[in-house]
This record gives sequence, structure tokens and C-alpha cells, in this order.
Amino acid sequence: MCPRTPEAGAATASYRGGKSLPTGPRPAARTMASETETAGAPFTYVRETAVADPKGFLNASREEWPRRPVGERVHDWDEVYVPGALLPIIRTQADRCMDCGVPFCHEACPLGNLIPEWNDLVSRDDWRAASDRLHATNNFPEFTGRLCPAPCEAGCVLAINQPAVTIKNVEAAIADRAWEDGFAPPRPPDRLSDRTVAVIGSGPTGLAAAQQLTRAGHTVAVYERDDRIGGLMRYGIPEFKMEKRHLERRVAQMRAEGTKFRTSTAVGRDVGAAELRARYDAVVLAVGATAWRELPVPGRELSGIHQAMEYLPLANRVCEGDLETSPLSAAGKHVVIVGGGDTGADCLGTAVREGAKSVTQLDIYTQPGAERDEDADPWPVYPKIYRLSAAHEEARDLETAPAADADARLFAASTLRFTGDAAGRVRSLHLVEVDAERRPRAGTGRVLPADLVLLALGFSGPDRSDGLVDQLGLALDPRGTITRDADFATNVPGVYAAGDAARGQSLIVWAIAEGRAVAAAVDRRLTGTSRLPAPIGPYDRPMTA
Ligand SMILES: Cc1cc2nc3c(=O)[nH]c(=O)nc-3n(C[C@H](O)[C@H](O)[C@H](O)COP(=O)(O)OP(=O)(O)OC[C@H]3O[C@@H](n4cnc5c(N)ncnc54)[C@H](O)[C@@H]3O)c2cc1C
Ligand code: SF4
Repeated sequence: MCPRTPEAGAATASYRGGKSLPTGPRPAARTMASETETAGAPFTYVRETAVADPKGFLNASREEWPRRPVGERVHDWDEVYVPGALLPIIRTQADRCMDCGVPFCHEACPLGNLIPEWNDLVSRDDWRAASDRLHATNNFPEFTGRLCPAPCEAGCVLAINQPAVTIKNVEAAIADRAWEDGFAPPRPPDRLSDRTVAVIGSGPTGLAAAQQLTRAGHTVAVYERDDRIGGLMRYGIPEFKMEKRHLERRVAQMRAEGTKFRTSTAVGRDVGAAELRARYDAVVLAVGATAWRELPVPGRELSGIHQAMEYLPLANRVCEGDLETSPLSAAGKHVVIVGGGDTGADCLGTAVREGAKSVTQLDIYTQPGAERDEDADPWPVYPKIYRLSAAHEEARDLETAPAADADARLFAASTLRFTGDAAGRVRSLHLVEVDAERRPRAGTGRVLPADLVLLALGFSGPDRSDGLVDQLGLALDPRGTITRDADFATNVPGVYAAGDAARGQSLIVWAIAEGRAVAAAVDRRLTGTSRLPAPIGPYDRPMTA
């Protein structure tokens, strides 16, 4: 029987100390008109305020979009999820949402996603309205639906004593359904302003800013030094986390709306920064923070030691069809990844697919617990807990690193030096276990075989090699990121900065929020007023305890 029929929930449910919840048919929806704050095509949406199933969270437990079996997925580069397996489960999952009076999920999302509203709409099978509400706050929900670590789920009220609502899965389902059913057509502006904007950088920040400004009627050109659009989503994040077709589809939508793209054009090198500034009414710097951190230990100069962002782009180029095999392929090699974050996990999944002989990932931090530490990270902040990404699951099942923990990670591991062979190639990595203050623990030294070492130690700020920062005379803060005022304006008149370039390395959801907010600031400066939403300010940061 369909769990959504009134009969399925006919019995009275007992809830927290015997209080009974309403049963039987779903309540008639009360309605409330609200306007969607999206550039270009405001519309009136009738919001159903009564929750579709008040017992949804009691009737169903959390069920996530299933991943394909490890043995199958490591032999291809397709997304790890089972195609078509999300839609059949998602209405029941959306039903678990309690439509909280104070929805902390919404507070925890930098985009201010209208999560209870679209959970309710999915639950009622109204996909068009759900898509409208989702796109009202997020230009690219198919990106965040796949890639976001979901601070909204950490903040979900249900997560206080139950597994959270699968908000990220609901988002992906709405986004995918929107494309399938044609709910995301190009939305060119009704009329053009006579203002022009150059956006430098085509990552999620630049794309969001460009789409908002184009839809607001400005003539926008995106300059990108790579040969393809997408920033880190193109050449950093692997295909198995997000297939590039999602990116292509959005770029085609943006072209149809009127955004111009100039690829293989590094501003500062191929076109002067001052020239662009003179040619456009405003310039948005969305150049990312790709200056990588180094590991200055003895032996770093040996060949076979590379930065993650030297390695990952080559694997992505194989998927794009540019290369037959990667010149840095892990095939048949003992691989050690230094760095325990997302970038390191992406290297892990890539090395496994390339056929590494063994892969170990080193994390300098001690292994976090499986449960939220209520003192250090109380609800609703995003907790440090032990997470098993798809790549770690693969490493665990394939036993890629017999010398390390089950999922290929070695925690509290600090690299001391590398040693190599007579030809100057790296052959081993020497490490020691450290305590929480990073002091070595006596007698814990180990040597791992290493033919390929990948450094995934994070990024400090914008890459300055193209000359853009110096040509414009941009002020940087002590971290190396671009400084800006409360309106996203840099010290150079008419030049704005957003995304990782100014915030420091962050997440796609923050990048999209930055792009939307800087677009509002630029629009206001160009026209004197703006209807574009600004979900965050430049100094906003994730919720902390
Ligand atoms: C390997 C990896 C995996 C990640 N995985 C995730 C994830 O799963 N989830 C998540 O939320 N975040 C993830 N992140 C972080 C996320 O990708 C970034 O926070 C986000 O892409 C930042 O967006 P951005 O637009 O500010 O910068 P970027 O995406 O870095 O884009 C900047 C663009 O500017 C271009 N550019 C730079 N200088 C110039 C110039 N002078 N002229 C022209 N173009 C220029 C660059 O080529 C680049 O395309 C990951 C990061 C890495 C490195
Ligand atoms: S906090 Fe959780 S249960 Fe409450 S509205 Fe948000 S998603 Fe629904």
C-alpha cells in the first residue's frame, strides 16, 4: 500500500510522552502568497503552510540515495549513485520534514534555501512549485545536491534525536526533475540595461554572479583562463562526484540567456586587467583560491611528489577525452595522499579507479568520534565526526591500504620526510604519530611505500602568477585573500571580489551565495537600486559553537 494514503497512518501515533498527533487524511492546506526573489522573472507562489504529513518522521526512517556497488563503480567514472533510485524514495523522505516554526535547516544554509517549503511541495508531488522555490534561492541546485556537505542537515531539528531529513537528496531530486520536466528553461531578461560587467573566473561564484547579472539585464562576459568553464568543479572535482553534463547544461542555459564566455583567456596575461577595467562598467573577481600549500620536508624535491591540483585535472582531462591516460596515473603504484580533507578523498577515489597498487591517506588530525561531541560542536553547528565518503567506502571494501586503517586513512599522522631511489624518484614516506598539539609520540615512526605522493594540504589564496592582483594593485589580507568592504568592493574602484578569492577556500554553497550577493551589490552600484537577493554579507561565516 502506498504509505501516503490516509489508511497507512490511520492508527493514532504516540509522540513524546503520549501526546497524540492528528491522524487520517492530510490537513487541508492553508495558503499564503509570497513572491519569489529571483532575478528576471518574479512570480507569485501560493504556499501551502500546513505540513502534508504530521507523522512523516514517525512513519519513515531516513533512507539515502543508494550508491552503486563498489565492485561496479570503481571500474567507471560515472556518478557513484544508482541512477533512477532517488525519485521512488524521495516523497517519503520529504514527508519526514516537520515544517518547523523555526527551521534551523534554513538558518544553517548560506543560500537561505526554503527547505521546509520545498520538502512540503515534494511531499505533495508538486514538482513545478518545488523547483520554483528551490531556484528562487539557488542558481545551481544540481551542484549542491551532489557536492554540498549539507550544513542544513547538521542543523535539522529532527537531528536532535533522530537522523536528519535527507535535505540534500530532496534538493538533487527536485533539480534533476526540473531539468527532465523542463522547469528550468533559459530566462533571458525582458530588457537590457546599457551596463556591462566582466566576471573573471567561471567557478560557482563567477557563474552565479554572471547568471544573476545577466538576468537583471546587464551585458555580462565571463573570462576564464582554462579551456573549459566550471572552475574547480571542472578540473578539480572528479566525474564520479558530479558528472560534467550537469555543468554543460547550466552553461548552455546561461549562453541562451545571453551570458558570453571567453575561455582560454587569463586576465593579467592574455588581456590586461586595466584594459578590462576601462572597457566594462564593473569587474567581478571570482578567481578562486588556488595557491596551494606546500610541505617543506626533506625529500620534497624528489620526482613523483605532486600537488593534488596537478594530479586531479589530468584525470578529469581523461574523462573529457583530451588524454588517453593521465601522465600522472596511479596505475600499479603505491600512492600516499597527504591531507585528510575533501581534496584528498577525491585523489583517493581517482587513484582507486586508475588501478593503484595501494592507497593510503594521511590526516594530521586525530580520528573524530562517530557521534557529535555535544560540548565542542553542539547542535545545530556542523560537527566534526567520522564520515565515510564514497571514496573511503571504496578503499575500505577493496582493502587498498593494508597498512592503514580499514578505510585507507591514517589519522594523527605527520609526514617527516621522503626518501627516493638513485634515479631521484620517491620510494617511501616516513611519518610519525602526533598528539592533538601535533607533538610526535615516541616510538610511532613508520615508513610507507610510496611511488606517487599527492599533497592535498589546502589553499592559501588567489594564484598570483597571471599578474592580475599586481596589475590592479589589489589589497590582500594577511592570509593572502583579496580584501573587500561590506559591499564586496575592493580597494580599486569598480572592482569587486567574491568567492574563495576573498573568503578563502570554502564550499560550493558559499561560492554560489557569494556570487548572488556580489551580483546584488554590483547591480545596485550600476542602477542605484536592486531587486536581486543578497543571501550573505562578506563577513558572514558558518555557524559555530
Ligand atoms: C579537489 C577539490 C574538491 C572539492 N570538493 C568540494 C565538494 O565536494 N563540495 C564543496 O562544496 N566544495 C568542494 N570544493 C571546494 C569548492 O570547489 C570551492 O570552494 C569552489 O569551487 C570555489 O568557487 P570559486 O568560483 O570561488 O572558485 P573556483 O572554483 O576556484 O574558480 C575560479 C576560476 O577562476 C579562474 N581564474 C583564476 N585566475 C584567473 C585569471 N587571471 N583569468 C581568468 N580566469 C582566472 C580559474 O581558472 C577558475 O576556473 C573542492 C575543492 C577542491 C580543490
Ligand atoms: S529543520 Fe529539518 S524538520 Fe525542521 S523544517 Fe528543516 S528539514 Fe524540516
